[in-house]
Amino acid sequence: MNHPVRIDKLNTDKQGGINISRLQNELADWFDREARALPWRTAGPGREPYLVWLSEVMLQQTTVKTVLPYFERFRTLWPTVEALAGAPLDDVLREWAGLGYYARARNLKACAEIVANELGGKFPETAADLQRLPGIGPYTAAAVAAIAFDASATVVDGNVERVVARLFAIDDDPKAAKPRIWEGAAQLTPARGAGRHAEAMMDLGATICRPTSPDCENCPVNRYCLAHKLDIAENLPVRAPRRSLPRRKARAYWLERNGRVRLGRRPAKGLLGGMLEFPATPWDQRSSPLTEPELVARLLPSRAPKKLPGLVAHTFTHFHLDVELFTAEAEHQDDGLWVSVEDLEKVGLPTLMLKIARHGLRHRQPAD
Ligand code: SF4
Repeated sequence: MNHPVRIDKLNTDKQGGINISRLQNELADWFDREARALPWRTAGPGREPYLVWLSEVMLQQTTVKTVLPYFERFRTLWPTVEALAGAPLDDVLREWAGLGYYARARNLKACAEIVANELGGKFPETAADLQRLPGIGPYTAAAVAAIAFDASATVVDGNVERVVARLFAIDDDPKAAKPRIWEGAAQLTPARGAGRHAEAMMDLGATICRPTSPDCENCPVNRYCLAHKLDIAENLPVRAPRRSLPRRKARAYWLERNGRVRLGRRPAKGLLGGMLEFPATPWDQRSSPLTEPELVARLLPSRAPKKLPGLVAHTFTHFHLDVELFTAEAEHQDDGLWVSVEDLEKVGLPTLMLKIARHGLRHRQPAD
């Protein structure tokens, strides 16, 4: 990037730069006044570990706004880790539908079972022990350890990464910046109160030190911030160039009989693992066994499905997918999963399948 100052060392008080303890105190004072009220931030000396863990798993790759209604529903349906451990996996997947990254839901259930059945309902208190549980990587382990148990762990999510990169004006490319950002975040983490500090950093990133148009004038730590001094805040952290994603195509089938539509369940592993789907041609390495031509030939031995107008477009992390939807009245029902047309939007379809369902509902002709 182009700016005249190159920062080779973290600019901490050891180098005559940022006074870390003052920054920590001023950030803590700001957090006392301005903390976001989030439902997993329970009152009391420590947060409720089950709710912290549940929220952190949901927040992986997902925004707070998207997570909130899911979190409330999970908390109502399964208020304790024991309740979640005892829930059928299909119910958990149904309630997770639309939140994406479905391996998280399966790991959530597996983790709940271990905590409830093998650990007496108590989550481990250190990041190292938490990381042994399914679905808990280094970030989530540090967040749960710090926020629920006040363990001295450094928590670096996307918001924290941005704040630290700006405070220390770390302007390396993303790969080289990562360890320096970790180093900076670790230096900022207090020995006690790491959980509140982590929450304060997250809130600062979410509300003031935003990706674009950071509100530096109202930032509680602006007098320590090097990027602000250099007027380069908005350029940091340096982002990787956007990749262009490949585009795949598939056909999906709306096979209807007596007001019911044929669905299937995807293999447990891989994209949309374990979720409901419409029959389709393969679009992923682990596409469902529920594909043409067998199913279509079995259910439509003497008629061809009709293509509906338009396409259903969806983007996964690694590719775009365009789906053509074909429809036909099936000649009989097989022993697979048939869902009534009215229930299609209630059975927990993942987002791609929900888009296909809505496209079908909009364009299909009444059964012939
Ligand atoms: Fe972010 Fe601006 Fe605050 Fe620096 S001064 S931490 S860039 S909001």
